[in-house]
Amino acid sequence: MTKHIDTALLVGSSFEAGQEAVEPILNPRTGKLILDVAEASTAQVDRAVAAARRAFGAWSRTTPAERAGALLRIADRIEAEADAFAALEALNCGKPINAARHDEIPAIVDCYRFFAGAVRTQHGSLAGEYMAGHTSMIRRDPVGVIASIAPWNYPLMMMAWKLGPAIGGGNTVVFKPSEQTPLTALKMAKILAEELPEGVVSVVTGRGQTVGSYLINHPDVDMISLTGDVATGKKMLDAAARTVKRTHLELGGKAPVIVCDDADISEVVDGLRAFGYYNAGQDCTAACRIYAGRKVYDRLVADLSSAVSTIALGLEDDTANEIGPLISLRQRDRVASFVNRAREVGHIEVTTGGEAMPNGFSYKPTVIAGARQEDEIVRREVFGPVVSITPFSDVDQAVGWANDSDYGLASSVWTRDVGRAMSTAAQLRYGCTWVNTHFMLVNEMPHGGLKQSGYGKDMSAYALEDYTVVRHVMIKH
Ligand code: NAD
Repeated sequence: MTKHIDTALLVGSSFEAGQEAVEPILNPRTGKLILDVAEASTAQVDRAVAAARRAFGAWSRTTPAERAGALLRIADRIEAEADAFAALEALNCGKPINAARHDEIPAIVDCYRFFAGAVRTQHGSLAGEYMAGHTSMIRRDPVGVIASIAPWNYPLMMMAWKLGPAIGGGNTVVFKPSEQTPLTALKMAKILAEELPEGVVSVVTGRGQTVGSYLINHPDVDMISLTGDVATGKKMLDAAARTVKRTHLELGGKAPVIVCDDADISEVVDGLRAFGYYNAGQDCTAACRIYAGRKVYDRLVADLSSAVSTIALGLEDDTANEIGPLISLRQRDRVASFVNRAREVGHIEVTTGGEAMPNGFSYKPTVIAGARQEDEIVRREVFGPVVSITPFSDVDQAVGWANDSDYGLASSVWTRDVGRAMSTAAQLRYGCTWVNTHFMLVNEMPHGGLKQSGYGKDMSAYALEDYTVVRHVMIKH
């Protein structure tokens, strides 16, 4: 595919090339160069922030209906170019085209449409007389200029999760995609420039330590929104402390999956084969940390290993691929190093996968059996197609282990016993717990973490709350 690919940044209303070093954008399927994208200069970031500040006054005073109209038009435009967006995302990230086109694009379109509806139906508190002779009311108003920083695993979807509630809520945004996956954001820039007033959204590209760092430290930014690594989140907090910016942090995950002895094991195997390896495991909710009851442990290890060995990847005919490669050689080597270190642990067995593939950045879907709670493979986020299984003796032990983690994003419990499902879900300290499934997200429901997985919600009306502030207005009679 060498159709025209947009590489211009959107700075206010101006499309311009980045003025700093170029970043080679690689095709993860082959490792070959797609093209170079130059990163923004500090002057370009300054102009983008200034444009956002100028635009804020008028945009923050638009009606919800006007903002909803813009979000609906953006959704329509993405839908109209769904094939092109999916092809570009698949090219840049190595995703199977079917996943990009049929899983992600509809969810992205729906996200903008959800926020278009949600912004018109926000509820407020009652106005009333809480002091004699005075009427108080509560307003919900936008925060201001938002620095929005996205990761590489779902570039266009993370953009939707961030822009939907931010611009729906009346804020203006300077958006920075990951330096590795800027292509769909730069294509989106054209649509955003046509459907929104000048400066409401700018798109600047570049590395975290240069463009990202300059942007989040900018004194005229009011809020930082990051989806990324825990270490990056801590940098956001440092930057935020200087001028007391608001923060919205969606960080990593290491999702525990508790498989009780009474679970339907064939459903568990189907579920884990899908939800442990989707997007090559580069997903912060991936079902990667399995705790299995002793009675089902051996069967689960055997059946899952054999199911996982059939996951299709690296095929010439991409429509047959179920997962793609990892995003970069660095990420593949990182995943490989986790598996290699696990292999050296006496009690651990790699039952399938455990090696890189010859082309591009692919790594074979891997199952690691016999892992223990204290093992690195159980504790640290791998962000690759690697699932560990640990046997447990009773459910309380499994819940204890599940909660014994720095992360707190997503979790699941698999059992036929409704009472056990409910009591386990109640004890898990995770932003989400699924019962007899995993991974399912809907735009109406919140997504976000506890502990070092961050705070603040994406999706749902709660995201609109996070991107707005409560204000009190009091009127003396
Ligand atoms: P990353 O933290 O390396 O990068 C994320 C973004 O932050 C990129 O745009 C990067 O350029 C930018 N960045 C990096 N350093 C920065 C700095 N000092 N200042 C400003 N910006 C900076 O993460 P990644 O490798 O792109 O993505 C993978 C991580 O994201 C994983 O840890 C994963 O769990 C997490 N993630 C979380 C969620 C969630 O919803 N919780 C969703 C997707 C990914």
